[in-house]
Amino acid sequence: MFFVSLVIVLVVGDLASTFLYHVPQHLWFKLHLRTHHDRSRSYWDHAVLSKDPAVMLDGFLGAVPYLIIAGPLCLLGTWSAVGAVLGLVLGQLHVWWRHTTDLGWVSPPWLVRLCRALAIVLPEDHDGHHRNPDVEFGDIFRFYDAPARAFMKSVRSIQRRRRTALRRLERIRALRLMRTTQRA
Ligand SMILES: [Zn+2]
Ligand SMILES: [Zn+2]
Repeated sequence: MFFVSLVIVLVVGDLASTFLYHVPQHLWFKLHLRTHHDRSRSYWDHAVLSKDPAVMLDGFLGAVPYLIIAGPLCLLGTWSAVGAVLGLVLGQLHVWWRHTTDLGWVSPPWLVRLCRALAIVLPEDHDGHHRNPDVEFGDIFRFYDAPARAFMKSVRSIQRRRRTALRRLERIRALRLMRTTQRA
């Protein structure tokens, strides 16, 4: 139960946080883009040190899915609770670690191989998300990147098609209005 809880908090927590918070923020909201992707500041500063309420709110909202998943696991028994809490601790340690590229962190080759085998996000991978906010989704695991990008692509293409259809409709209406006024 200890390991099951630990893995659930990390894997399902990352799934929920990516698809219920991170991706929607990139598609429809501004808070995460204004704070986490603020290029005017070092991201070690705003992901780890900052006490700015907006930055802290973004961090907290991203953590809520992990907390919601850990909550019920804590009620299932002692070992399950210990696993869930350790999952949260490891998740927090990973937040700090994945922002250390800013401080000059370079992953050694053995660690790159290990993290690739376990599909764990390296600081270098997360750095890619800061450089280009359209890639490298998934806080802890890289297997959420492809579905997140595919989802965003399909939402954006629907939004584009909708905008084009609305523009066409507006043009047709304007033309009709012009004709009626010409006839009158
Ligand atoms: Zn980041
Ligand atoms: Zn982001």
